[in-house]
Parts: sequence; C-alpha cells; structure tokens
Amino acid sequence: MTTLANHLPTAELQALDAAHHLHPFTKGDELNEKGARVITGAKGVWLRDSEGTEILDGMAGLWCVNIGYGREELAEVAARQMKELPYYNTFFQTTHVPALMLAKKLAELAPGDLNHVFFANGGSDANDTNIRLVRTYWAEKGQPERDVIISRWNAYHGSTIGGTSLGGMKGMHGQGSLPIPGIEFIDQPHWWAEGGDMTPEEFGLERARQLEEKIKEVGPEKVAAFIGEPIQGAGGVVVPPSTYWPEIQRICKKYDILLIADEVICGFGRTGNWFGSQTLGIEPDIMTVAKGLSSGYAPIGASIISDKVAKVLDGTEFNHGYTYSGHPVACAVALENLRILEEDGVIKHVQNVAAPHLKEKWEALADHPLVGEAKIVGMMASIALTPDKATRAEFATDAGTVGYICRERCFANNVIMRHVGDRMIISPPLTITPEEIDILIERARKSLDECLEQIR
Ligand code: PLP
Repeated sequence: MTTLANHLPTAELQALDAAHHLHPFTKGDELNEKGARVITGAKGVWLRDSEGTEILDGMAGLWCVNIGYGREELAEVAARQMKELPYYNTFFQTTHVPALMLAKKLAELAPGDLNHVFFANGGSDANDTNIRLVRTYWAEKGQPERDVIISRWNAYHGSTIGGTSLGGMKGMHGQGSLPIPGIEFIDQPHWWAEGGDMTPEEFGLERARQLEEKIKEVGPEKVAAFIGEPIQGAGGVVVPPSTYWPEIQRICKKYDILLIADEVICGFGRTGNWFGSQTLGIEPDIMTVAKGLSSGYAPIGASIISDKVAKVLDGTEFNHGYTYSGHPVACAVALENLRILEEDGVIKHVQNVAAPHLKEKWEALADHPLVGEAKIVGMMASIALTPDKATRAEFATDAGTVGYICRERCFANNVIMRHVGDRMIISPPLTITPEEIDILIERARKSLDECLEQIR
C-alpha cells in the first residue's frame, strides 16, 4: 500500500510542496518564503498540523465540514460502497442505488416542488450545469433568445469558466477573458460598504430594484434567470437587508425569470434551516448545492430543479453530464452525512444551542475598537474592521491590508478565520460546542487586539 510521508520533517514537506504543488488562490512566492501549513489530521472542530499544533477551524475547511471532522461512519460507508460498486455512471438509462436514494432524499429535504436532482462534482460545475439548464429550458419553450443570466458584483459561484462568469469577482474575470457572453451584473446588497446614507431597508429595496432596471435594459424577452447566494459567503458574509429578497422574488415572478439560489454555502444547516432559502424566504426554481451535502468528505454537488423546469426538460435529451455525476461513493457518503445531520440532531443543535450562543458572543465583538458591524445568520458570520465605526470608514491602507494582518494574528493564535478585504469571516462546523465557541471568540478577540496594536 502507498504510504504518505507524514513522518517527513515539516520543512521537507513544505519544500516538496513549493516545488511541485500549484495551490488555488495562493501567491507562489508566499509559499516559497513562508511555506504552507501542513495539515495532517482533524477531529471535531480541531485541525492538527505537522508540528502537532491544534488549531480551531473557524471555517469548517472551506465552509463545508458541517458535521465536523473524523466521523467514522462516513469512512465506513465509503469503504463499503467502494467494495460493492466503486463506480458506475448514470448516463444512457442506467442508475444505481446510492444516486437514486440521494436524489430522493434531496427531493424530500428541498423546499417547495424542487423534486429533481442533476448531480455534479461540486458547486462550480453544478452552476455550469445551471447555465446550460436554464438556456435549454427557454429554448425548449420556444424562446431560445432568452439566454441572459443576471448575477451580482462580488458574488461567488465557482471557479470553472461558467462559475467564474456567473460570479462577480472582477479579479477572477481578469484572468481568462471572462465572463462568457450573456451574463449581466447588478450591484450587491452590501449595506455596510455601499449603503451610503440610506437605511438598510431603503438600500435593500434600491439594490433589488436594480434587477428590474437591468431586465428592462436587456429586454425581458432576453432574460433567462437571476442567480444569487441567499447570503453572499466568499464576498464577505454579506447579509442582505430584510427588504431585499422579497423584492427580488417579486421581480422574478413579474417577468417570469427563473430564480437560481446558490446554496453551496448556505445549504445543509448553515443558516439554521436545511437551506438558506428557507431562512430568507426565497422560493427558487433551481438550487445549487455542494459542500455541506457531503460535509466535504467526498466531492459532490448538484442542481435541484423544480417540477416546472423538469417538466419542460422532460421532452428533450439534455446533452450534458460528468463522468462522476452521481458517483456511487460520493452519493453514499452524502446520504450518511444527511442522516447524521438529521438523526443526530445536528440541525437542531444549531437552532437550539450553537447558533444562539455564537450570536450572543459574536455580536459582542462589535464593542471592540476595531470592529464596525458584526453580522451573523445561523453559523455564518462576519465583522467589518474600520478606523471609524460612526462613518463606516475604510482604512487608508490598501483594502485588505488590515484584514490580512488580522488573519495572520488568527493563524498565530491557532484559530482559522478568513479575511475578505477588511472583513473577517467565520463558518465553523455546525457541531461546535458552546465551550469551543468561547475559545473561538477568545482567540478572535486576542487577534483583534494584536492587530490593533500592530496598526497603531
Ligand atoms: N457557489 C458558492 C456560493 C460557493 O461558495 C462556492 C465555493 O465556495 C461555489 C459555488 C463553488 O463550489 P466548488 O468549489 O465546490 O466548485
């Protein structure tokens, strides 16, 4: 059997890594200078690195390890499935039990008439599927010119060509001549950064109404769909004002535009319900899911589609699919993960214990001299760092410099928090205990103190 060289000294592992491994979203020279932190194991909410340091993972990996690390049941299910049927595809009128049972379970859990599941490998390619799906839907309805999808600046919908195009990250568009044609953008509902003198409620309406303006500008007969994360995650845990989603919903209905809720982060308990759409009162036609679907134990994503959309597609062969669409091992792992979320009461733990405790402690961080607003929904939260709370001012340094310093202090204090510009964000495993939340907050506060000290 292959053995992994965990026993090599850290410096050697880092040198091998820097020499051969290209990292996502990482500057090569940073790796050469400092080396990557080598993570060798994990249990619950705790990561362990090659030096034996225990680190509290305030991000659940990349917002995905909802049930926490080290659940043996998932490893056992994966091993059993690998022995029984390690692979078969679901193309050309074949199926297998893990895929069909997972589709059935997702149809049960998803709100409304979202009863049909197309499997992908993760969130990005599920969103690529969505682009083709909605365009095929309108073509089948005899309106092929309806192919424009409206998204938002600073949205994140993945890293493939389609996902990057749907996302509103200008730095990503700049690499690879994106977006592809037929994607339009409106501004995000980020009151803290862009709300000016408006109240959050006024601002929420103003931003939602940009959708109507955009539809009129493009021509309603050309617009296929609107896509949005219920709460923007990678954009900085941007919680929209309460007026925002109801107005978006109204506009989509008025113009008969399909509404795609990208639930890749918000799904599977993160916001306190199974899906963010339920927390925010959204009724999507399509949901993108991934991450928490398997708690990151196996790569899998999906588009969950309403009866209305599925009915139209029924008449055609959708010439689309991935070798690993509905991979049996990933599906079996996801099913076991959903069982744990449900039967072990993880979602109930979020509702009754973890989210209320985290909310109380997180919102108290707003007292810190460096912190402007503290926002939280369920188990995803952000704080804005600012030199002046009253005016919501930005730092004079380049955006993100102070956030970066703060993130580095968090690293040093053995808690993982991410920074998006000068916003610090968390999204811990849903299984986190109140005691662990207290440790997280204590380390966050210490890191904020040290950051403040450093920039004075
Ligand atoms: N959509 C959202 C909202 C995400 O946050 C992400 C990843 O962070 C994706 C899509 C892309 O998912 P993946 O990285 O699994 O391709």
